[in-house]
Amino acid sequence: MSRLAMFGGQTAVPERYKRITWPVVTQADKDAVLRVLETGGFTVGSRAETEISGLEREWAEFVGTRHAVAVSSGTSALGLALAALGVQPGDEVIVPALSFVASGLAPLYQLAVPVFADVQARTFNLDPADAAARVTPRTRAILPVHLHGLPADMDEITAIARKHDLLVVEDSAQAQGARYRDRMTGALGDIGVFSLNAEKSIPTCGEGGLMTMGEPDVAERCRSLRVLGEYTKTANREYVSRRLGWNHKPSAILAAFTRSQLARFSDYQARRDANVTRLLERLSELPGVNVPLVPRDRTHVWHILRVRFDPEAAGLSGVTAGRFRQALRRALRAEGVPVSQYQLMPLPGQPVFQEQLGYGAGYPWKLPGVTPQRYDISEYRQTLAIVEDSLTFRRVHLDPRAGPALDAYADAFCKVWEHLDRIDRLARSLSYEPPWSTTSS
Ligand SMILES: *Cc1c(COP(=O)(O)O)cnc(C)c1O
Repeated sequence: MSRLAMFGGQTAVPERYKRITWPVVTQADKDAVLRVLETGGFTVGSRAETEISGLEREWAEFVGTRHAVAVSSGTSALGLALAALGVQPGDEVIVPALSFVASGLAPLYQLAVPVFADVQARTFNLDPADAAARVTPRTRAILPVHLHGLPADMDEITAIARKHDLLVVEDSAQAQGARYRDRMTGALGDIGVFSLNAEKSIPTCGEGGLMTMGEPDVAERCRSLRVLGEYTKTANREYVSRRLGWNHKPSAILAAFTRSQLARFSDYQARRDANVTRLLERLSELPGVNVPLVPRDRTHVWHILRVRFDPEAAGLSGVTAGRFRQALRRALRAEGVPVSQYQLMPLPGQPVFQEQLGYGAGYPWKLPGVTPQRYDISEYRQTLAIVEDSLTFRRVHLDPRAGPALDAYADAFCKVWEHLDRIDRLARSLSYEPPWSTTSS
């Protein structure tokens, strides 16, 4: 039995796997970018602009919606989606407590109030029962997130929305290309939102976002909101603002890069799926490792891979899940496994929600008639447990060439599992605070 790397043994993961990166940039991507530089047409409304409109056409076809509108980032797309659908100041928007912070910030841009609901233990997605329990007369929209690349329970969420006449904005930033019952995420709500940030599964070489929708009026409003509220029916800009808008125009160079990546997506996804499936098969054989549940009616695109750890099932008694995770994190990272924590607290625990400063002297929370929000993180029991007892892989396994590296990570897990007695001792002796308490001031 070889010694653990954290106690001076050889690392289980060979050095060469540290060079795996994301995104993969090919000659085709470089050619796409150069083509824009040579032909001009850099932004929305430029003469001869073909890349942004081309990406929108291809993206709508990919997702299966009538329209797609490209913007400057996923975060701006979330804000514009709520604006385009007419969410009003003081409206409540239900958001899962486990997500990237942009999902929780989006309502604030419209002076709407985020109301957080807990997630499910094995899919990490919005718990429809908890979302339904948080509907009030002020609720206007639900913002389900297809977290880590797995579609949320959209039938249940759509049923809640129908019953209470709510809008649905899908945060599909992490789930490009994921399917739910033969439809693609982004085609399941009033608007679907995507991010093209360089870390996402279909990236650009920088920042970008997209919105997808079926309604032509909604598409036109989204197009208008990204160009300062102008009409966009003709190719030329009119320079007359007809509503409050922003400058969230995307760049043609970034659009060209994404078109090139989109063309390779299904090939990359097939390889990623095979690599990740092999890793999960091996991890799920280890006692105390809980791999994500993928319900049979949907696909997972593995933007992030999260595994939970259960000390009791691993045979460690009287060790808390947080300590077990912390000891495993140290041991695995020493072996060369790039595991990390994704989200250090439930979203409502982030200072922006705890302190409720918002716009001006505390809007939207100080608007007349708004129901006070306590944002008490102890209400989010599943989210707290997940944040405390799991580790994630990010980016590295997105690389379709990462198969051998993922095999080496599985070897490293097996090695660590041969030394659970040492992990047990370390878990008991290390100084430990839950992640959310170390970040609060
Ligand atoms: C990345 C991400 C966003 C924001 O996208 P950006 O393009 O980075 O602004 C929103 N929601 C989720 C769930 C994300 O992962």
